[in-house]
This record gives sequence, C-alpha cells and structure tokens, in this order.
Amino acid sequence: MFQKVTGSFSFQVCRKLQSADSSATLITLAGPAVRIPIKFIEKKPLTADTKRFRFALPSADHSLGIPIGNFIQLTVTVDGKQETRSYTPISTNEDRGHIDLAIKIYPPTIQNPRGGIVTQYLDQLKKGDEVLMSGPLGLLRYNGHGTFLISSGRFSLGTAKTFMELGMLCGGSGVTAMIPILRTMLKEDDEKPQCSLVYSNVTDRDIIMQDELSSLSSKHRKRLKVWYTVERPTKTNWKYGVGRINDKVIQTFMPVPAAGVLVLVCGPRPMVAACKALLLDLHYTNEMIFIFSNPP
Ligand SMILES: Cc1cc2nc3c(=O)[nH]c(=O)nc-3n(C[C@H](O)[C@H](O)[C@H](O)COP(=O)(O)OP(=O)(O)OC[C@H]3O[C@@H](n4cnc5c(N)ncnc54)[C@H](O)[C@@H]3O)c2cc1C
Repeated sequence: MFQKVTGSFSFQVCRKLQSADSSATLITLAGPAVRIPIKFIEKKPLTADTKRFRFALPSADHSLGIPIGNFIQLTVTVDGKQETRSYTPISTNEDRGHIDLAIKIYPPTIQNPRGGIVTQYLDQLKKGDEVLMSGPLGLLRYNGHGTFLISSGRFSLGTAKTFMELGMLCGGSGVTAMIPILRTMLKEDDEKPQCSLVYSNVTDRDIIMQDELSSLSSKHRKRLKVWYTVERPTKTNWKYGVGRINDKVIQTFMPVPAAGVLVLVCGPRPMVAACKALLLDLHYTNEMIFIFSNPP
C-alpha cells in the first residue's frame, strides 16, 4: 500500500487528529522551528553514564504530542553559542505534564577534554533551569499496523509503506528510537509485523531499558525477539552475544532481505556506518534500511 503525503501536510494532519482526542487537547510541540522553554525537574541514573532527565511541559495537562518514530531537539547556549541536539523521548504521549529523556553523558576524555558539549551542560542543570525544546522532527513515522511513512527530506514527499518483518539494530542510547515503535506496534491486536531487535553495548552494565524490552518480548513471544551483544561482559553467566554487530549477527537475527522487510538502525555514528555497510553487503537494499539521523 503506497500513499504520497507532504511532510508539512502530514504534520498538520497529525496535530489535528491529536486535537480531536479530548484527552490530548493540550499538545506541547508546535513544529520543528518553534522552540518552547521547558524546565528541568530532576535526573536519575539508569546506568553509569546514562541518566533519565525529566523536564516539565508548559502545564500539568500538556502532553508532548510526538508522532511515533519522531524525535525532539533540545537547544542550549554554551559559552555564548547555541547548540542543538536530537533526543527520542522515553515517556509517551499519554504522560501529562512532563517529558523523560534517557541521555548518555559524554565525560571529558584525553582525546576530547571538553566532553560532550550539550550533555555536559545538561548534566549541570539545576531544578528550574530552562532549556529550549523543538519538534517533532524525523523522516520516519509509524502509522500503525505495520505502516510507516518514510520521507527523504524534511519538506519532501513521504511514502507510506506496510512492512511485515522488522529488524532493529541499535547501540547505546540508540535504543530510545526503537522503544516507542515497539510499544505502539505490540499494543495492536495483529500477528504482524514481527520484529527482531539486536542491541549492542560496550558492557552489559550499559544496557538501558532492559526491563521494558524483556517484558515486551516475554509478553509478545511470537512478535518480538531481543538479542543483546556486548564487547566486554561483566557477568560470568552472560547468556547473550559477545562482540560488536557483525555479518553473523545480522544473518542470525535479522529478517532475510526481501520485499516487506525494513531494518531500522540507530546508534553512534561508527556503529551506524558499520551496520549499513554490513547490510548492503548482505544484499539488503537501501529501501530496506532506515537510519535515524539528525535533520540535514
Ligand atoms: C535521531 C536522534 C536521536 C537521538 N536520541 C538520543 C537519545 O535519546 N539519548 C541520547 O543520549 N542521545 C541521543 N542522540 C544523540 C544526541 O543527539 C547527541 O549526539 C549526544 O547527546 C551527544 O551530544 P553532545 O553535545 O554531548 O556531544 P558532542 O559534543 O556532540 O560529542 C559527543 C561525542 O561524540 C564524539 N563525536 C562528535 N561528533 C562526532 C562525529 N562527527 N563523528 C564521530 N564522533 C563524534 C565526540 O568526540 C564526543 O565523544 C540522538 C541522535 C539522533 C540523531
């Protein structure tokens, strides 16, 4: 099933649909160009370097209003310069009054003494400090029942296509891009699409959202399979993979390349580049691969 829709048109339709739902009339996001101040409330550790940041939406009745598969951007001013970075919320549109982000903090290192510019700044926020949020953004949206609207650029035509088999390759905080799609997809009373997710990390201690992934896969055994792979396991009884995502991992866990297959990739740049090269070598076509990335 194919359908052409423009990016801006589809955004308006989405907002209108959300407004038609009386329980979600107060939508926070007002478009990629509109920066809304949101106040930092608190942060909680998820792993050694990843924290759950909670920010207040404009009122306790506001929901975020983000299409499934899209992300938001935070803009902060560091040393007099505006810096903008993309994040996929781990809270849902049903949450009222706040947004949660799982953010990996990049500490200063010998190679990069400053550390991550924005994450170092976010890590210093005090309760009540404001940052600017804009969105929704993204070239992929999950429209339900296996149908994705995929655009080639912010203002380009999008194509709606239904997929029966999904693969997901993610690394580190890249798993946040997959969670909203899985949550929505698995709530649908369908047998398809079926999904295989491979989640790569440096150690098993870096895995985030493992409880939610385990609970989704045990509740939906026929529809979701999850495999972890880590470079350095710390548990003696580690029962998943060791090493990075390679051709064997893809051949074992991803759906075989065919019409109706879509592989979503999100993670650090080197991991994404390696996965794309492996997928192309293994005869997945560009149409079967979607990479979550910053807007051009
Ligand atoms: C669609 C999308 C969704 C995202 N969602 C999340 C999320 O939910 N949670 C999350 O934690 N992150 C997410 N990110 C990543 C996030 O946008 C930032 O890149 C991250 O927070 C680092 O920002 P920073 O300013 O702290 O680091 P930067 O100062 O930008 O640098 C971060 C690290 O990467 C290295 N680096 C910087 N640029 C490059 C480059 N060009 N090539 C190789 N290495 C480089 C630096 O040396 C440093 O160690 C997402 C990214 C995208 C594109």
